[in-house]
Amino acid sequence: MSASADTPTLSESHSGIPSRLLHKANKAKSLINDLRTENVAQDLPQLPIIPQGVSRSNFNKAIADLSEQIGSDNVSVVDKPPKDDGWYMEHATTHDMMHVTPSREFMASAIAYPGSTAEVQTIVQWANKYRIPIFPISMGRNLGYGGAAPRVPGSVVIDLGRRMNKILDIDPDDYTCLLEPGVSFYALYEEVQKRGYKHMWIDTPDLGGGSVVGNTLDRGVGYTPYGDHWAVHSGLEVVLPTGEVIRTGMGALPNNNTWQTFPYGFGPHTDGLFSQSNFGIVTKMGMALMPAAPDHESFMYTFQHESDLPQIIDIIRPLRISNILENVAQLRTAVQTLAVTGRPKTDFYTGSGRIPQDVVEAEAAKLPIGKAYWIYYGMSYGPKHIRQYKLDIIDAEFRKVSGAKRIDPATIPKDNYFWSRDKIAAGEPDLEELLWCNWVPNGSHIAFSPVSPIRGKDATVLFEICNRRQDQHGCEIFPAFCVGLREMHLIVECVFDKHDPEACEAALACMRGMVDDAAKLGYGEYRTHLALMDQVAGTYNWNDGALMKFNERLKDALDPNGIMAPGKSGIWPARYRGRGWEMRSGKESSEGDGVAAAVGEARL
Ligand code: ADP
Repeated sequence: MSASADTPTLSESHSGIPSRLLHKANKAKSLINDLRTENVAQDLPQLPIIPQGVSRSNFNKAIADLSEQIGSDNVSVVDKPPKDDGWYMEHATTHDMMHVTPSREFMASAIAYPGSTAEVQTIVQWANKYRIPIFPISMGRNLGYGGAAPRVPGSVVIDLGRRMNKILDIDPDDYTCLLEPGVSFYALYEEVQKRGYKHMWIDTPDLGGGSVVGNTLDRGVGYTPYGDHWAVHSGLEVVLPTGEVIRTGMGALPNNNTWQTFPYGFGPHTDGLFSQSNFGIVTKMGMALMPAAPDHESFMYTFQHESDLPQIIDIIRPLRISNILENVAQLRTAVQTLAVTGRPKTDFYTGSGRIPQDVVEAEAAKLPIGKAYWIYYGMSYGPKHIRQYKLDIIDAEFRKVSGAKRIDPATIPKDNYFWSRDKIAAGEPDLEELLWCNWVPNGSHIAFSPVSPIRGKDATVLFEICNRRQDQHGCEIFPAFCVGLREMHLIVECVFDKHDPEACEAALACMRGMVDDAAKLGYGEYRTHLALMDQVAGTYNWNDGALMKFNERLKDALDPNGIMAPGKSGIWPARYRGRGWEMRSGKESSEGDGVAAAVGEARL
């Protein structure tokens, strides 16, 4: 990343920042640079890293062949150590820019940039011919979960976004769109504005730089009432691991005009096979857009005590299920509110361990939230009289918690983080969330994201796990309860200095501990980092691992050569199974002991 140059804008790059947010991007970048230390020298093997089962000479031959087929400009070999990791808006796509393990563990050998579905097919057929593992990314901003990195070192990353980034359709009557993988939430939002579709909103995650397709496939969430992206997608075009193309739902019916409005079509609903899986590469996806709310207003409540948690959650449940609380709203800690100012922890506290609560309270008192432990961010939608009806109920319920306060938005300065949440909940992608990474130098994050009922006792149990493991490993964590309709995701971000090997080890151990503790009590993750996929998949083991056995049968049938993202979501193809590729506590290497010969390999 260049320290001084402006962040690329959307007019310069499909993954750029909208001009309206350039000032925020440049501020975020300079804050990161202020806390940055030199990259630690990496102990890298000879580059490019050659995937196991392939000889260096065959790999070189294969790359020459691919360059011939899709153009040498569209293939880039990782033959030099990556210059740096970059940052959110200018991220490395050669490895996980927020590496919790040494970056070689998840490093690509090359990156290929297909320009069409036909070229994706070409690449997949090429991978089968040379038995080279490939790993698709749309934008590669899956930060906290592995970014752009492949699970198997030496895989060829298929960066779909660079050349396949068209908005194929926005239908202003049906409120739908059809997208290629390289369309970011920023780009979709800007296009909706440009076309003057004021009656339509998009749903955006905390940051808008991710691909709509990539985020939806990984089952990310946004913060309007349409928060569950996967639930509102309709229709996929997918290149299978053997190179055929299918369209799902109504897309299988030639000349249909309902691909983006009816997700199911006829027969088994196959879409689920392509989400968080390694069964195909999605080249087009349909998505519902939301009718713009006639009006809306954000609100914020603060609560004084850590021990208020179960009461708050039990109040939220019926309000959320009955849609009085209308969006995926968040309950966060005051510590995270301090961190999202972009200031490091050492500005507030230089001792070791968790920042003491009296320090947090004293600092929070200087912010609009005032002295508080928990902060609830929400939005109410609709005309004034309808909002008022809902807001009165919310107010009466939240005030049952002793010391609860509603912070009047009129008193909150315009540059406060509250207004960033306000934009996001109204479908306008923003760029402030990552500021809490600056809590530590070279700040990176990895997430523990269990799903639980919306019940006080579950929230308490999970929060206790977080606190215990945080203290055991001396980590910095920010837990946020994100409440869906009938469940909540607890997103626990662990922030660590990626240049400090001990901090990385502690963060990973902390995550592993939390996953195990939670699984013992029946809580499972909704999504996870590459390093944790085997462990998390292993917790979904009812009936002697019946689900994984089913996934493996599908994998072997669909991908006989095991070339498509081996190990993603803990699903290993036959060629890799039983050779120790799984990562776990005490075995943090991402590699195993070779691969078996592929089907028909002897004939090659
Ligand atoms: P984003 O930039 O939106 O966060 P990524 O491109 O980082 O998304 O991808 C998120 C996850 O989804 C990764 O595990 C990636 O392998 C998978 N993925 C992304 N795009 C595709 C695609 N087009 N087809 C199949 N899997 C994909």
